[in-house]
Amino acid sequence: GPAPESAQPALDWLKAHDGIFGHFINGAWTKPGKTFSSDNPANGQSLAQVSEGTAEDVDKAVKAARAAFKSWSALSGYERAKYLYAIARLVQKHSRLFAVLESLDNGKPIRESRDIDIPLVARHFYHHAGWAQHRDREFPGQVPYGVCGQIIPWNFPLLMLAWKIAPALAAGNTVVLKPAEFTSLTALLFAEICEKAGLPKGVVNIVTGFGDTGQAIVAHPDIDKIAFTGSTEVGKAIRAATAGTGKGLSLELGGKSPYIVFEDADIDSAIEGLVDAIWFNQGQVCCAGSRLLIQESIEDRFIAKLKKRMASLRVGDPLDKAIDIGALVAPVQVERVRDLVKKGAAEGAQVYEPDFDIPGGGCFLKPTLITNVSPSHTVVTEEIFGPVLVAMSFRTPEEAVALANNTRYGLAATIWSENINLALDIAPKIKAGVVWINGTNNFDAAVGFGGYKESGFGREGGKEGMGVYMKPAWEKDLKPAAAA
Ligand code: NAD
Repeated sequence: GPAPESAQPALDWLKAHDGIFGHFINGAWTKPGKTFSSDNPANGQSLAQVSEGTAEDVDKAVKAARAAFKSWSALSGYERAKYLYAIARLVQKHSRLFAVLESLDNGKPIRESRDIDIPLVARHFYHHAGWAQHRDREFPGQVPYGVCGQIIPWNFPLLMLAWKIAPALAAGNTVVLKPAEFTSLTALLFAEICEKAGLPKGVVNIVTGFGDTGQAIVAHPDIDKIAFTGSTEVGKAIRAATAGTGKGLSLELGGKSPYIVFEDADIDSAIEGLVDAIWFNQGQVCCAGSRLLIQESIEDRFIAKLKKRMASLRVGDPLDKAIDIGALVAPVQVERVRDLVKKGAAEGAQVYEPDFDIPGGGCFLKPTLITNVSPSHTVVTEEIFGPVLVAMSFRTPEEAVALANNTRYGLAATIWSENINLALDIAPKIKAGVVWINGTNNFDAAVGFGGYKESGFGREGGKEGMGVYMKPAWEKDLKPAAAA
C-alpha cells in the first residue's frame, strides 16, 4: 500500500512549543500552569503537556472576551466575514498539519481527518462568513448573546470547535472554548491560526482542562450563553446548573441512531453505508448508525454479507492511509466499550468479531456485531460509542418505525430502500433531528444538525445554527444584575 503519512510536521510543531502549552487568552499564551499529558492512543506515548484550566484562568478568559465583545459586535457583518474567510483559508493552507495532529491526538484514520474533518472545518468557516453578512437581514430585532462558553468533546476535536466558534463569531459573539481533555492539540493550533488571521485579541479564547474547568465555565456569572456537546449525563448537569441563571443554552448529546434496511434495498450499497455509519471514527460518533434494523425476509442474507465485509476491514495505525479503523481515543473508552459488550454477552446476546489480528499496545478494538438481542438489552438502549453494531429485525414498516423510536435519544436515522415512496413515508415518522435516505453521515454546513429528546436541543449549521447564537434585542435589558 501507500507509505504512511509522516508524523513529522505535527512533531515539529509540538517541538516549536517545547511540547508544553498554556492557555490562549486575550490573544496571547499564558505561562503553563499545572499540566497533564495528551497521549497518542495508538501507542500510549505522550505528545505534549497541556495546562489544567483553573477558575482564575476561566475568569481571565471571560474578562478578555467581555472586553473584546464591545468592538467585535460593533463591526459590520462584512468585516466579521473577512476574519472568518481568513480563518477558513488558513485552515486549508495548514490542512496537512491539522490532519496529522488530529490523527495523532485522537487516533482517527488519517484518511478521515484529511478528507473529512479538516475540509468540513474550512467549509464551516466559509459558510459562516456568509452568515456574518446576512445576519441583520435574516435576524431582524435580534442581537448576539455576548460572551459564549463552549465545551466540546474529543470525537471530532477540530470539527466540533468549528461548529461552535464559526456561528458564534458570525453572529457577533466572543468565546471561551474548552476542548476535551484527551484532544486539546488542534484547538491550540487553531489559536495560532486566529493570531495569523489577525483576529482581534479576546474574540477567541481557548482554556484547556478537565470537567472542573468546564464547570468553571458553566458557573461563571459573566457568560451569557453555554453551548455544549458531549455526554447526556454531563448535558443534564449543565442544564441543571444553568437553570434560572438567564444564560442561553444549547446541548448536543448522545444518540443510538437506527439504520433501517428494507427488503427492497440495494444490499451492497446498504452494507457500504453501514460501514460508514458505525465504523467511521471507530464508532465514536454521536449520530453513528449503531442500531441496525433489518427486514426479516433479508436478515440472514444481509448478516452473512455484513460479516464477510467486516472481515475485510483493516484495523491499524491511524497514519496508515490504507486502514479503515484506527485507535479509540483513550484506554478508558476501550474499557467502557469492552464492559458494555461483556454485559451484552451476559444478557444472552451473540457477539461476532472477525478473525484477524489487531495491533497491540494501543487503543484498538475489532469491529463488532451483536445479534440475538431484545429491545430491553443494555447494548440496545445504551450508547456504546465504539465500533459495535447491534442488530435487530422487523417485519413491517410500522414495526420498523416503532423500533426506531423506541429510544430515549433522537439524533439521526438512516433509511435504506429502493422504494422512495416508502422511504419518504417513513422519514417524518421517525423522531430524529436528521433522517438520511440511501446515504448516511452526510454533513453540510448549511443544514441544521441536532437532536430530539435526550439527544439535546438547538441546532448547529445553517440558519437554525445561527439562531442559537442570537437573542431578541429586548432581552438585553432583562439580564440579571451579576451579568450587567
Ligand atoms: P463528557 O460529556 O464527559 O465530556 C465532554 C466535555 O465536557 C469535555 O470537554 C469534558 O471535559 C467536559 N466536561 C466533563 N464534565 C463536565 C462538567 N461537569 N461540566 C462541564 N463540562 C464538563 O463526555 P466524555 O467523557 O468525553 O465521553 C463520555 C461519553 O459521552 C462517551 O462515551 C459517549 O457516550 C458520550 N459522548 C457523546 C458525544 C457526542 O457528540 N454526542 C461526544 C463525546 C462523548
